Amino acid sequence: TKGAAMVTAVASRVQAQRKLIDMVLALFRLTQEQLVGVQDKMRAELEYGLKRDTHPLATVKMLPTYVCGMPDGTEKGKFLALDLGGTNFRVLLVKIRSGRRSVRMYNKIFAIPLEIMQGTGEELFDHIVQCIADFLDYMGLKGAQLPLGFTFSFPCRQASIDKGTLIGWTKGFKATDCEGEDVVDMLREAIKRRNEFDLDIVAVVNDTVGTMMTCGYEDPNCEIGLIAGTGSNLCYMEEMRNIEQVEGDEGKMCINTEWGGFGDNGCIDDIRTQYDKEVDEGSLNPGKQRYEKMTSGMYLGEIVRQILIDLTKQGLLFRGQISERLRTRGIFETKFLSQIESDRLALLQVRRILQQLGLDSTCEDSIVVKEVCGAVSRRAAQLCGAGLAAIVEKRREDQGLEHMRITVGVDGTLYKLHPHFSRLLQETVKELAPRCDVTFMLSEDGSGKGAALITAVAKRLQQAGKN
Ligand code: BGC
Ligand code: MG
Repeated sequence: TKGAAMVTAVASRVQAQRKLIDMVLALFRLTQEQLVGVQDKMRAELEYGLKRDTHPLATVKMLPTYVCGMPDGTEKGKFLALDLGGTNFRVLLVKIRSGRRSVRMYNKIFAIPLEIMQGTGEELFDHIVQCIADFLDYMGLKGAQLPLGFTFSFPCRQASIDKGTLIGWTKGFKATDCEGEDVVDMLREAIKRRNEFDLDIVAVVNDTVGTMMTCGYEDPNCEIGLIAGTGSNLCYMEEMRNIEQVEGDEGKMCINTEWGGFGDNGCIDDIRTQYDKEVDEGSLNPGKQRYEKMTSGMYLGEIVRQILIDLTKQGLLFRGQISERLRTRGIFETKFLSQIESDRLALLQVRRILQQLGLDSTCEDSIVVKEVCGAVSRRAAQLCGAGLAAIVEKRREDQGLEHMRITVGVDGTLYKLHPHFSRLLQETVKELAPRCDVTFMLSEDGSGKGAALITAVAKRLQQAGKN
């Protein structure tokens, strides 16, 4: 009959549509073999970064940090810390008491308006100093002369613990006249311009390093710091003898890998999709930080958005209508992805979240959106796991161990907020580095506290040097 024919026609159309959606999702499913491939390539790039001859062209920069030891518990005093480059900009006062390994912190979050993130360097640093002034005022510490640790979460070439030349902005920053400049000098000059207080800038630290230090304060086995947040990066303790850019063979030094740049030479193009390329092209730093753009909070929502646009164009979503909202960059923040993927959420609630984002969805739409989010974040966690597996395996081999235990200090909104990211990351590491027993330690306020701890250690060493 006519009716039955129509039902069959509809059913086969639904089937055909499902097939198209599955084809897109399949692009994000990595086989074990592909993940091992990523692990191997990461390993090779790490080695290029460490070797003198290949270092200049390496995409994984392997930057020496001049952090060589963990706090020993004798550190003490009051420190200021700045934390720039994550989800929030913060100023902190950190009080460290020796012996008891206890730390007290007071902090204030400040907004950095877009026009300042992407204005001139002077404006950016003036704004930072303005925030410090507000904070000192607020804490009743106006004339205080405190040692300061600066957590600056961007790639910096360091020649000592208190010098750091910005190699290039990442994430949402693009202030002019900063690249190639020493950010400590820029901060000092801004403090001078204001001419209101004096601060002793003792250390500039990447957030990964701060995170490792904070966890290392409690667990001496912590020799890796990982950030899976707005951006993605990892640092770890490397043998001095393997760090060819730095003189000396004794002991270890923390290396800031800047692994976000992995793939910038095209070495993982085989797994990048058209959506990854679109996200890259629409970003502030096209062609750069390709691995970061597949693994971190600032970009996952953008990948999702690109897929949704494509599915809508194919008539598979949102009744084929691309709304103004869907065209808007940055609508899917990590917190929304996390909510959408939460297992406790009924589909109706997913629809409500989409509604909040200005996207009118049917029940079928909300199922597809959730699947898309799941595919993108699963791939991110697995890629990040493959990178981490490369590092722990390297450490195990370098130490000639059959089996190795190591702790990773972790921070970042993606790791902390997302319902599945951390588990998938851990599962991947277990599979790809079966001889390593990796413990994950969440860092509470790692970057600020870590900057203070590093500053305290540096101060202690400075003073020891003077005596
Ligand atoms: C930066 C790293 C930083 C990471 C996490 C990346 O974009 O290049 O220096 O550690 O984000 O904040
Ligand atoms: Mg050396």
